[in-house]
Amino acid sequence: MTISQSLCWKSSKELRYHVFSSLKYLGVNPTKIRSQNFLIDSNIIKYQIEKAGINQEDIVLEIGGGLASLTKCLAEKAKKVYCIELDKIFSKFLRDYFSTYNNVEIISGDALKIEWPSFSKSVSNLPYQISSPITFKLLEQSFQVAVLMYQKEFAERLFAEPGSKNYSRLSVMVKLKGKVKYLKTINEHSFYPQPKVKSALVEIKPLNRELNLDIIQFGEFVTNLFTLKGKTVRSALKINFKNTFSSLSEKEKEKLEKLPFIHRRIFSLTQNELIELYNEILRAGWYSSERH
Ligand code: SAM
Repeated sequence: MTISQSLCWKSSKELRYHVFSSLKYLGVNPTKIRSQNFLIDSNIIKYQIEKAGINQEDIVLEIGGGLASLTKCLAEKAKKVYCIELDKIFSKFLRDYFSTYNNVEIISGDALKIEWPSFSKSVSNLPYQISSPITFKLLEQSFQVAVLMYQKEFAERLFAEPGSKNYSRLSVMVKLKGKVKYLKTINEHSFYPQPKVKSALVEIKPLNRELNLDIIQFGEFVTNLFTLKGKTVRSALKINFKNTFSSLSEKEKEKLEKLPFIHRRIFSLTQNELIELYNEILRAGWYSSERH
C-alpha cells in the first residue's frame, strides 16, 4: 500500500479510504479497550482545527494519534505537533507516516504516565476510557486552549449544575481550573468502528488564576463527600470522617452543628459553598487530623 501524502483530507471519502486501507494494511482490528474509534468525517477535523485557531506559531499536543487522521491536518497548520500514542502498532505506523515531516514528533507511551512536552494548544479525540484523569492532567499544564472530543455523557458531567443528576466531583473540580464550553454533539457514524454512544466536542481554556487552596486536598475532600452526594453535609461528614467526628467533645459537637450548609444535601452545594465548608473544617482542625 502506498500511504497518501497529499494535503489534508480533501473529503470524507478520502479520509474513509485512508482509515480503511490503513487498517487493512496493518492487519489490525481496532480495540474497544483503547477507545480505537477513528474519525472518518473530514469536516469534523476541519471544525476542530478552526475552533482551536491553529496557526504557524502553535505547538500542538495530540493525545491518541491513531491512524494520523487528525495529526496530518494539525501538522499542516501548526509549527510543531507532539502526538502521544499508546498502541505500539499505531505509534510505529505514525512514525513511518510522518517520516518525511520535520514538525511531527511521535511519542510512544501512555499519556497518563509520561511527562508531556510544553505545548500551546491541544486538539485530541481522546481515548474515552481515560477522559477524567487526562482532563485533570491537562489542567495541570500551562496552555492556551484545548479542543477535545469526549463521550457525550462525560461532557455533560463537565457542565452539570448543582442540584442536577450529573453534578459530580468532576463538575466541581474542572471548573475550578478551567473555563469549559460545549461546542457540538458528534454522531456515532462519524467514526469507524461506530461507538455505541454519541460524542461531544468541548473547548477548555485554563483560568490561570491564583487559588488560595490546596487543590489536591480539596479534591480529596470533594471526592469523599460526593461518594455520598445524596446525603446531608452532616451525615456525609460523619460517615467520611468517622474517626474525627465520633470522638468530638460536647463543645466541638456544637461547633459541628454550626458549620455552614450542614443540613443541605451534598449534590446541591455550589463550588464556592464547598470551598467555604472545606475552609471551615480546616480551620476547626478536623480535616488534617483525619488525614494523619
Ligand atoms: N486521533 C485518531 C482519530 O481522531 O481518529 C484516533 C482517536 S481514538 C478515539 C483514541 C486513540 O488513543 C487510539 O489510537 C488509541 O490507541 C489511543 N490511546 C488509548 N489509550 C491511550 C493512552 N493511555 N495514551 C495514549 N494514547 C492512547
